Amino acid sequence: MRNIVLLAVQGAGKGTLAQKLSEKYGYANISMGEVMRNARNDGTERAKIISEYQDKGILVPFDITLDLIKERISQSDCQNGYILDGFPRDLKQAEAYDQILADLGKEIGIVINLTVPENIIYERISGRRTCKNCGRIYNIYSEKLKPKKADVCDECGSELYQRSDDTEEALKVRVETYFKVTAPLIDYYKEKGVLYEVASIDADQTLVDVEKIFDQLGDDND
Ligand SMILES: [Zn+2]
Repeated sequence: MRNIVLLAVQGAGKGTLAQKLSEKYGYANISMGEVMRNARNDGTERAKIISEYQDKGILVPFDITLDLIKERISQSDCQNGYILDGFPRDLKQAEAYDQILADLGKEIGIVINLTVPENIIYERISGRRTCKNCGRIYNIYSEKLKPKKADVCDECGSELYQRSDDTEEALKVRVETYFKVTAPLIDYYKEKGVLYEVASIDADQTLVDVEKIFDQLGDDND
């Protein structure tokens, strides 16, 4: 059983790592964004509250977020471990998460902080172009993902555009906010002795590095 919290700024490759770990080790892959989307659409009273808040652009009440996490990690697919992405986001959530784990008799496991040089984050996000017609995503800075003809979709020939939240300014604000809010979280987990820093530049290498941590910690498939 191994529980993992993934911390990283957007564009650091969290989703890719979570998917690889989930496929290889059978850990449940939990994205807080997805948990929230599912809860919003489940037709309950709570779904109505979530929609109301989100439609107004306000954060969903803290108690609801906590309930959702508690319910999700109690599900049977989490028995052998899970990867949590997008929660906790700040110190208040981290403390509440500790309480949830205590209530459920679960271990925190490990917290992985994916680090990536800032210029790479900018390339990954500000190089992103989306097809207006089919939604396919390209990256003008990537040999593998770059479109054959500039600003035209390889698949359907439609125009590519840059989403407004992919621009450098929008990204800068997000990155700065992330580091401000997350820095105390990193210290919190460092003090607990559960934090591991892993560079996220090449996805395969990142997996190898995470598995080195698993080896160090020993096999705990009990
Ligand atoms: Zn297209």
